[in-house]
Parts: sequence; structure tokens; C-alpha cells
Amino acid sequence: MTGASRGIGRAIATRLAADGRHVVAASRSAGDLETLVSEIAAAGGSAEFRTCDVGSSEEMTGLVESVAEAHGRLDILVNNAGVTRDGLLLRMSDEDFDTVLNVNLRSAFVACRAAARPMMRGKFGRIVNVGSVSGLTGNAGQANYAAAKAGLVGLTKTIAKELGAKGITANVIAPGFIETDMTAALPDAVRQQVLPQIPLRRFGAAEDIAAAAAYATSDEAGYMTAQVLVVDGGLAT
Ligand code: NAP
Repeated sequence: MTGASRGIGRAIATRLAADGRHVVAASRSAGDLETLVSEIAAAGGSAEFRTCDVGSSEEMTGLVESVAEAHGRLDILVNNAGVTRDGLLLRMSDEDFDTVLNVNLRSAFVACRAAARPMMRGKFGRIVNVGSVSGLTGNAGQANYAAAKAGLVGLTKTIAKELGAKGITANVIAPGFIETDMTAALPDAVRQQVLPQIPLRRFGAAEDIAAAAAYATSDEAGYMTAQVLVVDGGLAT
């Protein structure tokens, strides 16, 4: 799974390991991943880490292929790595658009393409792509991010149709505002503006998303595919 060094990805890795999965945790930060793997081991779980820049097609493909080869199988793929480069449309540079599309969307396409073969061989697969409510509703200042996250929905539904007959499911989890480094930078004024729009009147915890990921990747979720699980405290309704 990607983006495991902190935030939502760290919580998903921790939860899947607690549920008895062997987790391969990836991001660019070896130190943080090493700490995560130690914590999982101390709790009685099983994990390893790989460093990978998901923005590189070669690195992303290499990661997925090497994990499948080393373990002889690949059951679950969670594409969670993501970045923001917010700005209003009129001021957004091509570079900021491309970076966000590359890291948030193309990486998932590349990883799913690499995972398809080993999953088809195993006649089993659980793919989860972490989107965002921004991709469903749009969000001022996030033309790049919303486009990438909306793209993940189309990508995931297509994969679900192409690979469903092989026992592979593909779903999107679309979080609302979750307490992580990504939202820590929000000015207090923005928080105060957002909170009344959330029926549950709080930002979510990374563990709230991990719980949805645990279900979507479980054996028992075998009849759920091509869905968008919105976990946002009711924000986008
Ligand atoms: P975060 O705390 O900023 O963590 C982002 C993760 O992505 C880190 O583990 C980071 O790892 C990894 N990452 C970023 N660029 C990468 C790259 N080029 N190669 C490899 N890994 C990379 O963010 P978060 O809030 O946990 O968000 C996780 C996912 O949830 C993202 O897809 C985000 O868009 C989505 N989401 C978050 C929220 C929210 O409110 N927090 C809401 C909706 C959706 P390294 O820096 O170690 O490489």
C-alpha cells in the first residue's frame, strides 16, 4: 500500500496488519516506514517496507511487481499516496496541475495495471483507491486535486468492470476532512467555516478511513465493487 508513512495510509497499514494481513508499506520516507514496521511487529503483526516515489511509473511498477514476485501473490492494493498543490484556476500552473495528476491519479493507474496480472493469476484481488469528496463535488482552489480524485472514480469503475470476472473488486474510498498533516495546514477560519457543514460536526480520524478500508479489502466484501464509499461525516450529502 502506498502513502503508508503517515496520516490515513499509516492508519490503514496498522489496521490491516492488526487484522492479520502481511502489509508492504510504501512511501518515500524510509525512517517513518521503519518506525511503522517496528510498531506493527511489536503489536504482533507482520509488515515490511519499500521506498518508492509513486510519481515515477518505473518505481511504481517495480514496487508492485517485486512484491508480487517476492510473495508469490498479491491480494490487496491500496493506492493512498496523495498530494495537494492548491490554487485558484486562474493562477494554477501547468506544473502544479501535472504533479497532482501524476501522484494522485497516474500512480494508481500504473499500480493497478501492474497488480492486475498477479491478482488474475490468484483469481482474487481487492483494490482500494483513496479518492476524496473533492472529486465528487469539486472544491474551489483544487481544480487539479478534484480532477485527479474524480479521475480515480472513472478509473476504479472501469477496472471493476474489466477484472470483476476474475474475482477482483475495485472501490474508491472518498474521505471528507480528516485530521492529518494534509489538513493541519488549514487556517482556523477555514475550519470554522467547514465545521457547520459537517453533520457530525467534527473532522474525521484516520482510523475512520482505515475501518472502511478494512472492510473494502476483506474477504467478506466480495460482492461490493465499483463503489464509492464516502466517509465524510455527511459533508457531501
Ligand atoms: P498526508 O498525511 O499528507 O500523507 C500523504 C502520504 O502520501 C504520505 O505517506 C506520503 O509519503 C505519501 N506520498 C505523497 N507523495 C508521494 C510520492 N510522490 N511517492 C510516494 N508517496 C507519496 O495525507 P493524508 O491526509 O493521510 O492523505 C492520504 C490520502 O487521503 C491522499 O490520497 C489524500 O488525497 C486523501 N484524502 C485526505 C483527506 C484529508 O482530509 N486528510 C481528505 C480526502 C482525501 P512520503 O511523504 O513519506 O513519501
